[in-house]
Amino acid sequence: MESMLGKQQAVINEEVLERQQMIDCRPAMVLEGRVIICQRCGTRHVKTDVRLPSGHYYCPSCSRYGRITSEHQLCWQSSQVQPIDHQVVFPGVLTTFQKAISDRLVRNYQEGRSTLVWSVTGSGKTEMMFETIAAARQKGARVAIVSPRIDVCRELHPRIQQAFPNEACLLLYGDSEEPYRYTHLLVATTHQLLHFYRSFPLIIVDEVDAFPYEGDEQLRYGLQQALTENGALIYLSATPSDRLLKEISGTFQIEKMPLRFHQRPLIVPQLYWLEKWRRLDQRKSWRRSFVKELQRLAEKNFVLVFCPSIPYMERVAAVIAKELPDYSISSVSSKDVQRSEKVTEARQRAFQILFTTMILERGVTFERVSVIVLGANHSIYTKSALVQIAGRVDRKGAFNHGEVLFCYNQMTPAIRKAIAEIKAMNQLAQRWLADDL
Ligand SMILES: [Zn+2]
Repeated sequence: MESMLGKQQAVINEEVLERQQMIDCRPAMVLEGRVIICQRCGTRHVKTDVRLPSGHYYCPSCSRYGRITSEHQLCWQSSQVQPIDHQVVFPGVLTTFQKAISDRLVRNYQEGRSTLVWSVTGSGKTEMMFETIAAARQKGARVAIVSPRIDVCRELHPRIQQAFPNEACLLLYGDSEEPYRYTHLLVATTHQLLHFYRSFPLIIVDEVDAFPYEGDEQLRYGLQQALTENGALIYLSATPSDRLLKEISGTFQIEKMPLRFHQRPLIVPQLYWLEKWRRLDQRKSWRRSFVKELQRLAEKNFVLVFCPSIPYMERVAAVIAKELPDYSISSVSSKDVQRSEKVTEARQRAFQILFTTMILERGVTFERVSVIVLGANHSIYTKSALVQIAGRVDRKGAFNHGEVLFCYNQMTPAIRKAIAEIKAMNQLAQRWLADDL
């Protein structure tokens, strides 16, 4: 049987009796009048809807994590952790500004307060967490670092392990290769938190605004359940939604980090009117000005062209590739089997122009890049998505005159708010830099 040390597992009632001395248990489902509430995922169901022929009830909402019924108990084995003096091994140095945020995070954690770090893209936010993780470990606390996105977890895990070489750090997600074992540091997808109960005094949620955590009640419940009673949360986001800001208002400290690691301002998107962007593939005259802009940008840098849908991307990429035979042009989407190979090739500058969809919205860094958003007024582009896409440009290395172009034929609140937010962060950055002099 899988280890229950620090992780909860569903066990049939009779089996619980045999193991009672070793473990803590609570009923998997709790009755409340006509309703039955699943204690693993927090979903409420009308009893008659989820009754089994045996007379027990089951939870259809979290069955993908293993079916649980009212015949089950959720059991776990608590662990006693001894405080350990841990030094962080920093891969680089923190800037003065990163250090200021890092210090405030440690202080908030020591005072038992949760924090949202609202930090611009390319600011080195992971490094700002290390001191707080170390502070938690010095108190003997177990720490979870989670993200809604598997690719973010895969990228975080080696960095955490490198910063804490004397700690075991497990990477856990739906199909992860390593089986569960007890570790003091855990990197996992937010879904995995449903398997934990009062386990972590500190949980860090990276990219808290990213799909699918945003708006998912089950994951929100899982997060609260996995946190110990007086535990603290740290949310990291470059683009917190209005909904998130409202939700945490009054309960979280908000620490803004307006400066990128290299301390240059964010690139402000330029608005580019493109009347017929929806039918760009149909007539040469409708795309003439766009093709000119594309060539202009491609002369200087690699160009990423974001498209609102896969069929649209394929149509437009095909006509442009035909029209610009001297350029190396490709496209990549979530349906592409060669997706990761193409992204690697793009990083090695195998293409000059890459058409893409939202898959490259975040989490990927290209050097010497400009981006174009085709149809920036399409409803798929939220304010957060637009800020993230614009944030692909000038993330690291020397300045290369990368540009951000929003091609649109109607103004939307998302476009307006994205640009306003980028400008506001740049103004704050300017004040910080001026004060430091
Ligand atoms: Zn459930």
